[in-house]
Amino acid sequence: MARHLITSAIPYINGIKHLGNLVGSQLPADLFARYQRGRGNEVLFLCSTDEHGTPAELAAAKAGQPVAEYCAEMHEVQARIAEGFRLSFDHFGRSSSPQNHKLTQHFAGKLAEAGLIREVSETQMYSKADGRFLPDRYIEGTCPNCGYESARGDQCDNCTKQLDPTDLINPYSTISGSTDLEERETKHLYLCQSQMKDQLDAWIDSKTDWPILTTSIAKKWLHDGDGLQDRGITRDLDWGIPVKKGDEDWPGMEGKVFYVWFDAPIEYIACAQEWVDAGKGDDWERWWRTDKGADDVRYTQFMGKDNVPFHTLSFPATILGSGEPWKLVDHLKSFNYLNYDGGQFSTSRGRGVFMDQALELLPADYWRWWLLSHAPESSDSEFTWENFQQSVNKDLADVLGNFVSRVTKFCRSKFGEEVPAGGAFGAQEQALVEELATRIRAYESHMEAMEVRKSAQELRAIWVAGNEYLQSAAPWSTFKEDPEQAAAQIRLALNLIRLYAVLSAPFIPDASATLLAAMQTGDDNWPEDVPAALETLKEGHAFTVPDVTFRKVSDDEREDWQSRFAGTRD
Ligand SMILES: [Zn+2]
Repeated sequence: MARHLITSAIPYINGIKHLGNLVGSQLPADLFARYQRGRGNEVLFLCSTDEHGTPAELAAAKAGQPVAEYCAEMHEVQARIAEGFRLSFDHFGRSSSPQNHKLTQHFAGKLAEAGLIREVSETQMYSKADGRFLPDRYIEGTCPNCGYESARGDQCDNCTKQLDPTDLINPYSTISGSTDLEERETKHLYLCQSQMKDQLDAWIDSKTDWPILTTSIAKKWLHDGDGLQDRGITRDLDWGIPVKKGDEDWPGMEGKVFYVWFDAPIEYIACAQEWVDAGKGDDWERWWRTDKGADDVRYTQFMGKDNVPFHTLSFPATILGSGEPWKLVDHLKSFNYLNYDGGQFSTSRGRGVFMDQALELLPADYWRWWLLSHAPESSDSEFTWENFQQSVNKDLADVLGNFVSRVTKFCRSKFGEEVPAGGAFGAQEQALVEELATRIRAYESHMEAMEVRKSAQELRAIWVAGNEYLQSAAPWSTFKEDPEQAAAQIRLALNLIRLYAVLSAPFIPDASATLLAAMQTGDDNWPEDVPAALETLKEGHAFTVPDVTFRKVSDDEREDWQSRFAGTRD
């Protein structure tokens, strides 16, 4: 039995995420976790909320809440929505957990011992009107790189260049709008990534099976310009993990916290500790410590392309630099962006569908199917309502749903609600079984390779094969001439419904559960042997005709939703 550690990039705490965020990490990670569990492998699937940093403080201030209270509330909201989408995390943790505080301070202490942290005195923007330093997003101004006028202190949203607040032209405070800023001296810690450049470069080179999208981003950061830069890992903020060297105070760093990007990936490990402390598991080290049993673990991370530099360089620098035997990522699956109807999803402008809204319109499976079958893998992809309607109506309602409905209803009317006896498989049935065997092996190899779209295409082809068989075997005609043969055809088709439920579970878990319940079986074993799998439900096995598996999206609904989500959510 293989062991899979799977993490999804952790969603930021300030508000409900849109569908583009969902398909960029959590959803494909869930697909992979469900698939590996379905194959009988041992899986630990972890995700958390990313709670520190200035955006959390700003969002809490806007909501009129203390930041800790705001984060606790939003964590519950995100956990509930994740459950609504059937994201099957073994634990959904919090980067603000005591476990992560301790572990982050531990890593900082180890890195300091290894000589990989240096203290830097630097000038930082201080706002006299606000009476505080203005880190990151508390400051905006004109990007020195592209001239964009609302560049944030940490990054320009227009050209994606990483910035320091002091780089900005015409800077102003986002708290008060004040331009009465001055540079003042303050001290910060830097992670000496530049010292680890060769080690990281060699490690990336060893990952020959990683997608080009992933390695090219890492290589760019390693080699462009002056090469990999040291990175500030502390901030002048109240909300965050206090800067400590292990358990000890860090002289001169009083009142400062670690930068959110330092502690967020460490939460992947802390989350496993939270999983144990919540009583859901009993040994987290066998997943994370190569000296304590994690040697045979395959660790896969899922994330959007904007997170790749931190996962290929900064987090590995933290782990390698500690000199301790922590598990490093084996495979990193990154995604491009999902755009929305001719533009971008926008949280600030409320453009596009957000996760809570999606679930109010339709059950999770509809969204899961569309998003995964259109995952932005090789390039950005686009959500349009026309495409969504077409995909739901065709793939889910016409192909899968219709197959289930025709087979079960026909059987009920001619043979009753049990698997009919009699007849034998002929050449046509043999051909179908062979085609399915080939396609299922292809489906497995796409899933193993985390080729999400190809997996969806193959699954759709597996559904189509059943439909085409039904169309050509036409048991409703056969029945008039040869009821025994029609019985054999329907017996195969009923078994096919169970097979579809098993194969489709990673994509559409609710429908899968409904179909298994309708077939009155708990046998969800993976079809290692396809011919045998198609004889699981024996003659006389009772079933029920399920309600409509998937309904169609009407033109009226499509038009209504299109205008409703065009922008201006408050
Ligand atoms: Zn810019």
